[in-house]
Amino acid sequence: MSGFIPEDIINRVRDSVSIVDLVSRYLSLKKAGASYKALCPFHKEKTPSFVVSPARQSFHCFGCGKGGNVFHFVMAMDRLSFPEAVRVLASDAGIKIPEARGPDVAGEPQRSERERLYEANKRAADFYARMLNSPAGGRAREYLESRGISDEMVERCCLGYSPDSWEGLVSAAGDSGVSADLLCKAGLAISREEGSGCYDRFRNRLMFPIFDNRSRVVGFGARTMADDSAKYLNSPETPVFSKGRNLYGLNWARKSIVDNKRVAVVEGYTDVIMAHQHGVENVVATLGTALTREHIRLLHRLTERIDVVFDSDTAGQQAAERSMELFLSEGAGALVAAGFDVRIATIESGKDPCDLIREQGPEAFEKAIDAAVDVYAKKLDIASQRHNTGTVEGKTRAVDEVLGLVARVPNAVGRQLRIDATVRRLSDTFDIDDQTLRARLSQIERHSRRGERPDQEPTAPATRYDAAERGVLEALLTAPETAPEVFDKLRADDFGSEKLRMMFQMARDVYETSGTVSGELLMRKLEDPDLASLISRVLNRPPGPDPQKAGSDCIRVLLRRRVQKKVRAVRKEFERARTLGDDQRAHELNVEYLKLQTEVQAF
Ligand SMILES: [Zn+2]
Repeated sequence: MSGFIPEDIINRVRDSVSIVDLVSRYLSLKKAGASYKALCPFHKEKTPSFVVSPARQSFHCFGCGKGGNVFHFVMAMDRLSFPEAVRVLASDAGIKIPEARGPDVAGEPQRSERERLYEANKRAADFYARMLNSPAGGRAREYLESRGISDEMVERCCLGYSPDSWEGLVSAAGDSGVSADLLCKAGLAISREEGSGCYDRFRNRLMFPIFDNRSRVVGFGARTMADDSAKYLNSPETPVFSKGRNLYGLNWARKSIVDNKRVAVVEGYTDVIMAHQHGVENVVATLGTALTREHIRLLHRLTERIDVVFDSDTAGQQAAERSMELFLSEGAGALVAAGFDVRIATIESGKDPCDLIREQGPEAFEKAIDAAVDVYAKKLDIASQRHNTGTVEGKTRAVDEVLGLVARVPNAVGRQLRIDATVRRLSDTFDIDDQTLRARLSQIERHSRRGERPDQEPTAPATRYDAAERGVLEALLTAPETAPEVFDKLRADDFGSEKLRMMFQMARDVYETSGTVSGELLMRKLEDPDLASLISRVLNRPPGPDPQKAGSDCIRVLLRRRVQKKVRAVRKEFERARTLGDDQRAHELNVEYLKLQTEVQAF
């Protein structure tokens, strides 16, 4: 089932990775009795229902139902296939996976495209780093020195330089066996529109490799060393890189974010590097885009508080306003309304964080962050500056802007609190009475609510039969004594869900060979994350009062469905016989129909 990875290796890998260590690399875990809790990374929530059990070496979310063992966790978090997850954890654990049989030395065809993209990016980073130290990298080294970035940080962040040539990387990569096609897929090279071959995407730029949380290079940010109008350039979207989902420095900042219970989001790569150089490590940067909803969810897994840092210039303030709109829209807005603390910090003096830290020390930066205000206060601040609040018109406009923002707060716990606080603040600032403000807010709400999508994605209601199918399998796992009845009465085709049918068959195989069904045993055999989730949910839940009876009830529901299906088939055939005038056949079918009806009643 696991492709070409031998089962004993899979078992060794699973047994050598601690689920607690693994999960805490991604989430902030809190001890709760014998288990650990965290906010679930797979669905939106504000109170933790994601539980990690060291005893069972499994995880389970009581909110969305996802669960499984170490492999399933890595599969879901890093979007990997089962064999990829095994390989990743094997390499973490230092366990060697023997190459597939056969003389296929390079093993290329077996490696997934993602793995080859990581490899291409890594090779490119090495090449750029070599170039930075070559005579060609002189200008880039001077720039780094002028920004005050230490040699140690240059090395730690694997900074590099892409030479001022059309085929620097392309030819170097060719020499080391990386194909031009792969470079193009990795976004490092571009195919020529005319003729054949390709050329370097990044030329004469200072290169900042961007790492994922496993410290693999997934893409690059690149600053021009010439007067290029595009000052910064990023890798394009690839299967391993997305600007909307990656944050610069998160791989280095993760632990500090969890320890300090907050994160600062800045705009520049050098801002991150300078902060880390001075020991302020809970700092990350967006990749030349505004903060996205995905970014916020990513950070929300680690902390309850984000401070977004903007420059005090006009561009910085405009970016701040755009971000505020996002904070209050849809998914992110629900988090904010529910108490997720997003604040806006402004660096006065027109400096960027990098210069501020270099010239005035990390304390000045931390002071600016401590002065961060919530989005409503910030909006009030900006609106007051924009309009002349000395006049009635100016005051009205400023109030409308702030209320317009509040109107966007989605329906969620805490919405009313936010509204009350803002109304109070406006009332104090502009000396307008509460009632007038609330009336104005309702008016704005009526106008702006139109066309807005509801925040929660509706989930398909599980049918009664679906519940019964699951119930049977749950009974098998919690009360092995139900096994004889289950396998005696039910058949695979009693399961409408393909996945559950698979699991039924697998459980039957296990039962027939070992005489019992255990959840742990089944989970080991399962690669399908949904099925693993189902099992982990059952294993992590206190058993009901009488699982055997619950199992029998579910069996009855499924048997009844089986009979009803037959009833429908017979009725159909009866109608057909009647239309054809086959009275004899119709009579027989009618008898059978009535017999089946009594059977249905018996359930
Ligand atoms: Zn969940």
